[in-house]
Amino acid sequence: MTTDSAIAPEPRAFEADVSKLLHMMVHSVYSDRDVFLRELISNAADACEKLRYEAIANPALFGEDPQPRITVTLDKEAGTVTIADNGIGMTAADMGETLGTIARSGTKAFMDRLSADNDGGGQQLIGQFGVGFYSAFMVAGAVDVVSRRAGQEVAAVWSSDGRGTYTIASADLSQAPDRGTRVTLHLLEDAKGYAERYNVERIIKAQSGHVPVPIFIEEAGSDEEALQIADGAALWTKPRSEIIEEDYTDFYRSVAGQFDKPALTLHYRAEGRHEYSVLTFIPESKPFDLFDPNRNGRIKLYVRRVFITDEAEILPRYLRFVRGLVDSADLPLNMSREMIQDSPVLSAIQKGVSNRVLAELEKLADAEPERYAAIWENFGSVLKEGLYEDYARRESLLGLARFKTTSSNGEWRSLKDYASSLKENQTAIYYATGDDLDRIAGSPQLEGFKARGIEVLLLPDQVDNFWTTTGIDYDGKPFKSVTQGAADLSLIPLSEGNEPASVGEEVTGFVAFAKEALRDHVSDVRVSDRLTTSAVCIVAPENAMDLQLEKILASAGRAPERAKPVLEVNAGHSLIGKLGQSSAGDDERRDIAYLLLDEARIAEGEAPTDPRAFVERLERLMAKTL
Ligand code: ADP
Ligand code: MG
Repeated sequence: MTTDSAIAPEPRAFEADVSKLLHMMVHSVYSDRDVFLRELISNAADACEKLRYEAIANPALFGEDPQPRITVTLDKEAGTVTIADNGIGMTAADMGETLGTIARSGTKAFMDRLSADNDGGGQQLIGQFGVGFYSAFMVAGAVDVVSRRAGQEVAAVWSSDGRGTYTIASADLSQAPDRGTRVTLHLLEDAKGYAERYNVERIIKAQSGHVPVPIFIEEAGSDEEALQIADGAALWTKPRSEIIEEDYTDFYRSVAGQFDKPALTLHYRAEGRHEYSVLTFIPESKPFDLFDPNRNGRIKLYVRRVFITDEAEILPRYLRFVRGLVDSADLPLNMSREMIQDSPVLSAIQKGVSNRVLAELEKLADAEPERYAAIWENFGSVLKEGLYEDYARRESLLGLARFKTTSSNGEWRSLKDYASSLKENQTAIYYATGDDLDRIAGSPQLEGFKARGIEVLLLPDQVDNFWTTTGIDYDGKPFKSVTQGAADLSLIPLSEGNEPASVGEEVTGFVAFAKEALRDHVSDVRVSDRLTTSAVCIVAPENAMDLQLEKILASAGRAPERAKPVLEVNAGHSLIGKLGQSSAGDDERRDIAYLLLDEARIAEGEAPTDPRAFVERLERLMAKTL
């Protein structure tokens, strides 16, 4: 590239989403504005790490200046704070792509959440999650970014007041850093405190003390040399005994881009055939991108302290909530990212770290069940994805799984707990799925289980519909849906105070009649084991898909050919008994059969078979009682 392709500063508009975000930044009365420093320093450190990586293949990029550094310059008089790095730098084109759009998925998720909330809740959200470069506009009325890409003889400047447009222009080389980026913030009147040294020093130490690049601070117009306030040492290479909890928390926040604390910290060094260090964390709260469709993990891969990639997928996707890094001593530095993916060393690391994370969770579950329950509360629905994705670790995942059940009073129960309270003759682990715990707990299908004191797992997550149908078992007991097939409860005795209903001729008569009348809509009508209070319910036939799963697939537009449900009737219910004896004519009995089916469907959250006909039947019936 040459200097004669100079670019003049034409105003360009921000992407719509950026404008929205900027508007929030500018108008935020948000109290913890300090985070802008963390975001800009983290970008500067990323830039240094990118350079370190590119210089492996092209050492000339380092020029005369191989030591990465970040310098924060305060100018009280001018009311500015400048964050400079000697990292990879940006070309004008890079700036256009990255500083006018929203690229990173975390910020995208943040925006989605904002528009979903729509009620000004955003202020708190900024507090909990980083929103990158644009956070500069919380404290600055104008921002200039001057940058020179490593190895290039041109520089560019980006400027904006954060009000809808920005400019990019060529910059004079003499005004630009020799390499890297200089971000200058023109502080707002009420943010002048960010030009105060004691203030900035404190914030950087607290927020960025462990970024892997040394940080210096200096004051404009002062003769004093820049002072190093963070050493850029890699925390993970230090022995555990020398690290205090605060160090881990600070490091976690900068590596994970989270604002909470770690719920679990795992720091160890693997030795033997492969040598690597691991420093990972489980967050205390759910990261924003937890349910991003791409389900990417965020474990960074380093090789001998050089950042290589955060796309190595060190952990399986169902452990994507784990943040942190792995630093390998064995991988060759000059291997491309693509080749690293296929390296046997990487597979050994993936396996080792995944097993260790699960083992660590198991240990915690045993030793500190309450701390573990808090982790499960946040990430259980993600971990459960492993039950159908990771056959090899299924045992371990089943051991880690916790459930609310019909007898747990809102507490979490393990399958071991469940297995220890099986009823006489109980041969399956029963579960009920749905999308709301209370509604599942109130399903009529559970009545017969309750009457026998049989515990039922209540499964409210979408993933529950999938892993339960993979032929999985625990301790030799299959998982069985309470809304599928015959309940087969007759061998399990009723608890005291529950009488078995006798099935008289009148009931079998009505069942036969209803079966004929409803044959277009149900595959069977039968007397139920599972009802004690409700008159009817519907269940899926034995080998068909569970009702919930059917519903989910249908809502995803992948509706399978729907199997007709089975209508079960409660022989002990007074209405059913009376129906058998009633002298009502066939037309009336047909109406009632339909109404019963529709009632059962409504209890499942479904529409009546034919809403118009349903209304007419109901009205005919009401008219008779008047
Ligand atoms: P993120 O850091 O998550 O990508 P940001 O909003 O903080 O999101 O930054 C957006 C992008 O701008 C970065 O990905 C990077 O490409 C570019 N960028 C920001 N600051 C710098 C810098 N100091 N040096 C080089 N590139 C930078
Ligand atoms: Mg960033």
